[in-house]
Amino acid sequence: MRSLLLPLMAALLTAGIASADETRQSKSDHYDAFRQLDAELPTPNVYRTASGAPGSRYWQQRADHNIKVLLNEDNQSIAASQTIRYTNNSPDALRYIWLQLDQNRFRADSAARLTETAGKATGKEKGRGDGQDLLTYTELARQQRFADVDHGFVIQRVADGRGRDMNYTIVDTMMRIDLAQPLGPGQRTAFSIDWSFNIIEESIISGRGGYDHFPENDTYIYFLAQWFPRLAAYTDYVGWQHQQFLGRGEFTLEFGDYEVEITVPADHIVSATGELQNEAAVLTAEQHQRLNQARSADKPMFIVTPEEALANEQQGTSDTKTWVFKATNVRDFAWASSRKFIWDAMIHRQDDAAQPEVLAMSFYPNEAEPMWSQYSTHSVVHTMEVYSRFSFPYPYPTAQSVNAWERGGMEYPMITFNGRRPEPFEPDDEDLDPGGKPDRTYSRSSKHGLVGVIIHEIGHIYFPMTVNSDERQWTWMDEGINSFLQYIAELEWEEDFHNHRDNYSILEHVAEYMTSENQVPIMTHSDSLLQFGPNGYTKPASALVVLRETVLGRELFDFAFREYAQRWKFKRPTPSDLFRTLEDASGVDLDWFWRGWFYSTDHVDVAINSIREYKVSTANPEVEFELNRQERADEVPETLGQIRNREEGRKTRLERFPELADYYNENDPYEVTNADRNKYTKLLEDLEDWERDALLRAAEDDDFIYFVDFENIGGLVTPLPLLITDADGKEEFMMIPAEIWRLNHLAVTKMLIRDKAIASIEVDPRRETADADFSNNHYPGRIEQSRLELYKRDDETRDMMADMLATLREAKGGEDHSARAVPLEPAGND
Ligand SMILES: [Zn+2]
Repeated sequence: MRSLLLPLMAALLTAGIASADETRQSKSDHYDAFRQLDAELPTPNVYRTASGAPGSRYWQQRADHNIKVLLNEDNQSIAASQTIRYTNNSPDALRYIWLQLDQNRFRADSAARLTETAGKATGKEKGRGDGQDLLTYTELARQQRFADVDHGFVIQRVADGRGRDMNYTIVDTMMRIDLAQPLGPGQRTAFSIDWSFNIIEESIISGRGGYDHFPENDTYIYFLAQWFPRLAAYTDYVGWQHQQFLGRGEFTLEFGDYEVEITVPADHIVSATGELQNEAAVLTAEQHQRLNQARSADKPMFIVTPEEALANEQQGTSDTKTWVFKATNVRDFAWASSRKFIWDAMIHRQDDAAQPEVLAMSFYPNEAEPMWSQYSTHSVVHTMEVYSRFSFPYPYPTAQSVNAWERGGMEYPMITFNGRRPEPFEPDDEDLDPGGKPDRTYSRSSKHGLVGVIIHEIGHIYFPMTVNSDERQWTWMDEGINSFLQYIAELEWEEDFHNHRDNYSILEHVAEYMTSENQVPIMTHSDSLLQFGPNGYTKPASALVVLRETVLGRELFDFAFREYAQRWKFKRPTPSDLFRTLEDASGVDLDWFWRGWFYSTDHVDVAINSIREYKVSTANPEVEFELNRQERADEVPETLGQIRNREEGRKTRLERFPELADYYNENDPYEVTNADRNKYTKLLEDLEDWERDALLRAAEDDDFIYFVDFENIGGLVTPLPLLITDADGKEEFMMIPAEIWRLNHLAVTKMLIRDKAIASIEVDPRRETADADFSNNHYPGRIEQSRLELYKRDDETRDMMADMLATLREAKGGEDHSARAVPLEPAGND
C-alpha cells in the first residue's frame, strides 16, 4: 500500500503509538492477562513446595489388600471376603476410616440415580426439536433392568484384626468404619469385610465394569472394576476425599500391595492387575509352555488360540479354578474372566534396571477378530515406548488389553478394558471361510479407534495409575494429560492417523468447542463439567499441544513435563503442582497461559486489522517536497469537473486573460523556499549528534516501516506466529511471544522495519494456536473459496400402491439387506 511518509519523532522510537482502533484499559474496567496466579493457587507448604515439587514432609497413606472372590455365573454375582491393612503416614490421629462403595451408585436410592435428569433432545435426533422430551430404547431398557435386579454392595460383616465386629455407617457410595482407638501417626490397623453384589450388565445399565452378554451362544465376558470396598484417600490438601461417586468424577485412591484369589468356572481364562502366581495350576501344560515362550517373543504369539477359545466357549463346566494374582504398589485392582478369551502376548524390553521386561498381553473373544490379534498387543507396546519417553519407564511387570465390551474404554493398573469390534458376528452368515472363521470387516475409523482407545487406556497406567492425581475433582489432570500423550502416540503410529489431518485436527476441534456457549473453565469439578469430553479431554490436551509446539518449544516442554512426571510418580499431584513444575523447570512464566486456558472460557481468535506502510522522512525539503508532490499526484486524481471542462473545450478565465497569472500560477505548494531550507538547516543543527546520525542513516537505508494492528477477538492471549511475504515473493516466518499482549490484551500494534516491501502477512499459517476463525488472519484479506452444494427440494410423498407392490415382490423371494446397516455412534473412552 502507498502511504504518507513518517515524520520522525523521538517518542515514536521509544514507545508504541496507539492506533485509531486500539482499545485502552480504563480504571473501572481493567484486565491483566498476565497477573500472577497467586490468589488462585493454594499457599505452598511443607507438603507441596512453591516450585511444584513434593515438600520435605510430603506424606501419603497406604492400603494393602488380601481378597478372596468367587464369581457365580448362575446369577451373575460375586461374593468376597477381604482384609485391608491400613497405614497412617499422616501427621494426624484418625478416629475413623472412609471407604468407597462404588457399586452403590447403582442402588435405587443412590444420589447418582436420584439426581439423574430426564432426556432432552439436543437437535441431533431425527424428528425431535432441540429441548423436546426424549426417551430412548436404551434408557427404557435400563430403567426396566433397575426394576428387575437389586444392585449395590451387600455388606455382610466388618470385623477388626481380632475378628470383633466393628461399627460402620454407609453414606451413599461411602462407608465410615469407626475405630475403637484413634489410629496415631505411623500406626497401622487391619480389618476385614465380607460382601457380595449383583454384577451389572454393562451394555444395559452403563458403567465402568460389569458383564457383556452374547445372546447368540449365551456366553459372557466379566470385567470387574470398582468391585471391592476401596480405601478413600486421606490427603494433605482436602482431608478425606469422600465426595460421592456420581458417575463422572472417577476415583481418588491409595497405593498398596494386593494378593487376590479369584475363583471362576474352570474353563475361564482370567486377566488381572498384577502377575499370575499359580500358572501351573490354572493353565494346561501347552498354554503354560506357550506363556513361557511369549516371555521372549518379539511379536505377539497365542497362549490360547482362536480355535481353542471357540471350542472352549461351547463347553461350560460346573468345576471351578482359583487364579492367584499379586500386584505391588498399585492404587487399584481389576480383573476380567471369560471362557471366550483368546490370549496373546509378547515381551517389551526397556532400559530400566527395576523393570527391564514387561509382558504385554491381550484377551479378546473371536467376535473381536481379525482386528485384535493384529493390533491390540502392538498398541500396548507402542504406548509404553512413547509414554516412557515423556515420563518414566513403565513401572509394572505386565500391561494388558482386554476386549470387554463393544465400545468405550477403561483403565486400571496393568489392565485395561477396550472396545471396538468388527462388524457384528452373524452365526448364520454364509460367508464363512474354509477355516470356519466368520468373514468380518472393519472400517478405517474402527481400526484407528481401536488403536487409539488402547493407547489411551494403557496410557492411563502412567496417568493417573502412577502419577496419582485426584480424579474425583479434576478429570482433566489425567484425561487431558493422557489425551495429549495419546495424540503424540497416534501421530507416531502411522501418518495421517484419523482425526489428525483429513478429518478434523485436535486444534480445530477444540476451537469449535471453545467458541461454543455451553462451557465452563477446565478448572471445574469433574461432576460439574457441561461438556465432559471437550472440557476434560480435548481442551487440556490441546492446551498442552500449544504449550509444547508453540509457547515453550519441544526441548523446554519435554524437559519440564518429564520433571513433573518424575516428581509425582507414585505420588499425588494437584493442579497447582503441575502448573508450578512446568514453570519451574522450563524457566518461563506461564501464569498467563494457565489463566487463559484453564481458568477462563475465552478462546483464541486474533484478527489482523490493518497495516500502514511508512518511510522515514529525511526532513530535507529538497527531497520531501518533491516526494509529497508525487504522492499527492498519485493518491488524489484530478478533479473530475476540471477534466470534463477541458474535454468540452471550455476555456478558463486565466486562459482567456493571461494577464491574470502571478507567482502562484508558476509555483505549486511544493515549491521549496529559502525559509524552508533555513528551517531544515536549523533542525539539523539542533539535533544531538546521535539523532542526526540516525536520521541521515535512515535516509540512506530507505527502509520500509510497517505498523501492524492486531485485535484479540477471542480474549485468550496467544503467541503470534506470522508468515510475512515480501513483494518479491520471499517468505519469512516470525514468532512473537504472547507477552506482546501484556499491556493491552485486546489490541496491539506491532512495528516491523523491513528492507523490502511487504505484500502480505498471515497470522498462524501452520494452524498451531487453536485460532477459531481464519477468515480474519490475512492482510490483505482473501476471497473465501468453497463449493456450494445445490439444494434439491424433497417432494417425497407416501405412495401406498408402490409400498404394496414391493411387499408382494418381497413375498416372492426378494432380498433386503437394509437391516444390516446399523450405524454405531462413536462412544467416549474413559
Ligand atoms: Zn481416559
